This record gives sequence, structure tokens and C-alpha cells, in this order.
Amino acid sequence: MATTSSTPTPFSVDAERLGELGAVFRGALVTPTDPGYDDLRRLDNAAIDRRPALIIRCTGPADVVDGVNLARTTGAPLAIRSGGHHVGGHGSVDDGIVLDLRDMKGVWVDPANLTVRVQGGATWGQVDRETQAFGLAVPGGIVSTTGVGGLTLGGGVGWLVRKWGLSCDSLLSARIVLASGEVVTASATEHADLFWAIRGGGGNFGVAVDLTFRAHPLGPEIAAAFVLHPLAGSEGVLRGWRDLAVDAPDEVTSRAMLWTMADDDTAPPPARGRDVLIIGAVYAGDASRGREALAPYRALGEPLVDMSDMLGDYRFLQYALDGDDTPVHSYWKSLYLDRLDDEALSFVYARALERPDPRILVHLPAMGGACGRVGAADTAFGDRSAPFMLSVDGMTEDAARLPEVRAWVRATVEAARGLDGAGGTYLNFVGDDASDRQVVDQQYGANLGRLREVKRTYDPDNLFRINNNILPA
Ligand SMILES: Cc1cc2nc3c(=O)[nH]c(=O)nc-3n(C[C@H](O)[C@H](O)[C@H](O)COP(=O)(O)OP(=O)(O)OC[C@H]3O[C@@H](n4cnc5c(N)ncnc54)[C@H](O)[C@@H]3O)c2cc1C
Repeated sequence: MATTSSTPTPFSVDAERLGELGAVFRGALVTPTDPGYDDLRRLDNAAIDRRPALIIRCTGPADVVDGVNLARTTGAPLAIRSGGHHVGGHGSVDDGIVLDLRDMKGVWVDPANLTVRVQGGATWGQVDRETQAFGLAVPGGIVSTTGVGGLTLGGGVGWLVRKWGLSCDSLLSARIVLASGEVVTASATEHADLFWAIRGGGGNFGVAVDLTFRAHPLGPEIAAAFVLHPLAGSEGVLRGWRDLAVDAPDEVTSRAMLWTMADDDTAPPPARGRDVLIIGAVYAGDASRGREALAPYRALGEPLVDMSDMLGDYRFLQYALDGDDTPVHSYWKSLYLDRLDDEALSFVYARALERPDPRILVHLPAMGGACGRVGAADTAFGDRSAPFMLSVDGMTEDAARLPEVRAWVRATVEAARGLDGAGGTYLNFVGDDASDRQVVDQQYGANLGRLREVKRTYDPDNLFRINNNILPA
């Protein structure tokens, strides 16, 4: 019954059909001849240039239902776009329909019940704006412009991961538009199989028109450490950070980032244009206790600049790593590390010194804590026992250099797979534009069979396949 191997039907709309559809949808319908089409189809990754036949700027669940029905009945390839951050470009599709959720960005905080309902097209910056007004936070990522939809359904690793787990661990329920056009609520008590699957299974099962999260008391004042060291000679600092990170309490989530700062006024003067090792850490709790807990992260070596005191506000921290508007061509890959021994650190450090483009970020987020205590079968996300991730975020401003960057990222991650305790991959960081069946299947591991059953129940014909695709059983 599944149409997974069938050739997609290119979709097109003539003026007459567009007029008919225009009477149905509340949101704008945008085709390649419309002004604004190029802006709307643009994804975060400048290397991906997709030309959908129709972009539907959904204003609410009704537009999503009709958009899903349109794709299903016409056989058009269908992509769901929220923040547009997927590095492999899963937020768009050539010659098909894009349901653009960006106008669905409502956020409603219920401070009495510590919950927040978020529409499926909101970004984390929009969520933080509303939740912080009540001194609350939902674990998101580390930049403000990433979509809540894609990040949460694929897991979600951010500054609060050790205290409150992945973003999907704070999800209480979601309203999902299924491939049939039906709208259902998925929670622990309704469609529990679907609720299990969307916590890590990505956009495979339908469109999340809204997501309700548990919100946690945090901020606006927080304690953070953000210290920039010269990359040259910083291997000892890296080891010092690792020693702190392995013994950290759940309140402290930290990361090491090996990078090159921009040579302009977006970087603090001593670090402009310099190769750096950034040690970042956040304390998810009382700010004054946090300043004490984070002091050792600020005392590692002689830094170029210590920006910790500037980042004592949760929202400001969430913006601190946002890029500028320069188009960047990206290719990312990652793996998990069960241990970060000296050999692994030396490998990471040596590779960082050899990056073929200054934009490439070599990133070691600490995980573990609450995240690591959730069982592999409890959510579709699967095994999250590794205390560290290595993410090699290949980026360049020069399109011509992308093949070299891509090859370097692949070689680095391939070599890292030989490290003791290396394994798995974070599917939200997969940069390949077509999902790699083997990588996806392997990552879901023992959960794959159950995921395929749930896929068959809710999307038997694989309408939602522009993602890290799970085939229906
Ligand atoms: C600059 C940058 C920073 C990042 N930082 C982090 C980070 O700190 N932590 C982290 O965990 N990840 C991070 N990511 C990765 C991120 O989680 C993934 O790229 C994720 O897919 C982005 O979601 P999106 O909604 O922005 O993407 P989109 O490209 O819009 O969508 C990605 C996928 O999610 C599906 N999807 C999106 N919204 C919905 C919805 N409402 N319902 C159903 N399916 C949906 C789409 O179908 C598509 O398959 C980052 C990526 C970038 C480029």
C-alpha cells in the first residue's frame, strides 16, 4: 500500500486553479511568479536552493488541513517548513507544496499551571520572549531563530538539557494534522503511540499545529560563563573543561566550541578575527548560587576575553550565538561520545586547528544529566546515554569552497568514529539533503520497528517523507 518508492508527481497550478484555492485558504498562496517568492523559499542553509511550485502561508490549522489534503489528493511532494533551519533542507521541496508555518507563531503562557502552548511555526526566540515575561523557560536550542517544530520533534539539545532534558522531554501534548487531514491530540493519554513517536521521530507522522510544553522557573537573571581563549595552546583548557563537565551537577550544562571569531564589531575587540576555544556554561537555578558553581569554568587558563557577566540574562544568552544575515553554505555531521578521554580531546583539538574554512564550528556539547536518565525506549529519540556529542558544523561563506568543507566534515566524523566510545548520530544535525536510510534506521535502533508501526497507522502512504524518513511497516 505504501507509495514510498513511487516517483513524485511534479505539481503545478494554473491561474484558474489558484483562484479556486484562493477562495479556500486564509493564508497567502505564493507561486514562482509572485514577488516575494524568492525571499519566502530561502532556507537557512544557502547551499540549498529549492523551487517549490506553491508555498502556502498557513494562518492556522484549517490551512494546514487543506494543504495536507491538497498534497494528498494531487500526489504533490509535500514539505513542512517551520524555522527553515534543517541543514539538509527538509523544510522545502522542488516542484511541490510547502506548508509554511511561520505565520503560526502564537505563544500562550499559563503561569499558574506552568505550561505554554506554542503554534507550530514559532521560533525559540518568540517562545523565550513570552515565557521570560513570567520567569519561565522551556528547554530549546542555543540560537533564537531555530523553529520549535523541527527542533522539538527531532529531540532538541540546548543550554538546559542536563537539568530538564531534551526539548521533547518537556512536551506534554501536540495537536497533529494527520495525512488523512484529521486533527488529533497526541499526549500521554490520547494517541499515546503517536505521542511516543513524535518525541524524536521528527515530522514523519503529521504537522504539529501546536505544541504544549511544561515550562520551568528560570530567569530572567541567570548565571552563565562564556569565556574565549586563544585556540593555539588551549588543549589544557579543553581538558580542564572536560574534567569539570563530567562531574557537573544537573544544573550546569556546558559546551566547548572551537571556532574563529568574525573580524568585525560583532566580536569583542581582543578576539576579533582570532581562532578561539569558547567555554560556555549555564546554571539552571538560582543566579547567585550559579555564579559560584560556574566560577571554575571561568578560571581555566588565561582567556582573551571573559564575556560571562554580559550574558546574565536568559534571553540575551539565547541570542548570543545567532548568526548575522550573511548567507552561509552548510554541511553538518555529528556523533555521540560515551567518553571524552585525552586521546579524543587531542583528536578534536588537532582537527579544529586544521579547519579549511574559518566558519567551520567544531562543537562539543555536554549532555547527560536529566537527558541521559530517560530510557532509550521511553521516547522515539532512542539511546541518549552518551554524556557528550561531537558536532562538526561545516560552514563557509564561499559556495565554491563547500565541496572541500563537506569532504573535511565527512573525513573528520569518519575518523572520530574510531574513537573509544563513539557511536550514533543526532538526526537534527544531519546535513545530507536526502535522508540516508541506513543512518536513520541505525539511529532509531531498537525503536525502529515500533516507529514503522506507528508510521503505518498514521501515514501509511508516506505523505510526510521530506524528513529523516521512517518507512511505514
Ligand atoms: C543555526 C542553527 C542552530 C541550531 N541549533 C540547534 C540547537 O541548539 N539544538 C538542536 O537540537 N538543534 C539545533 N539545530 C538543528 C535543528 O534542530 C534542526 O535543524 C531542526 O530541524 C530545525 O527545525 P526548524 O523547524 O527550524 O526546521 P525546518 O527546516 O523548518 O524543518 C525541519 C524538519 O522538521 C519538520 N517540521 C518542522 N516544523 C514542523 C511541525 N510544526 N510539524 C511537523 N513537522 C515539522 C519539517 O517537516 C522538516 O522535516 C540548529 C540548526 C541551525 C541551522
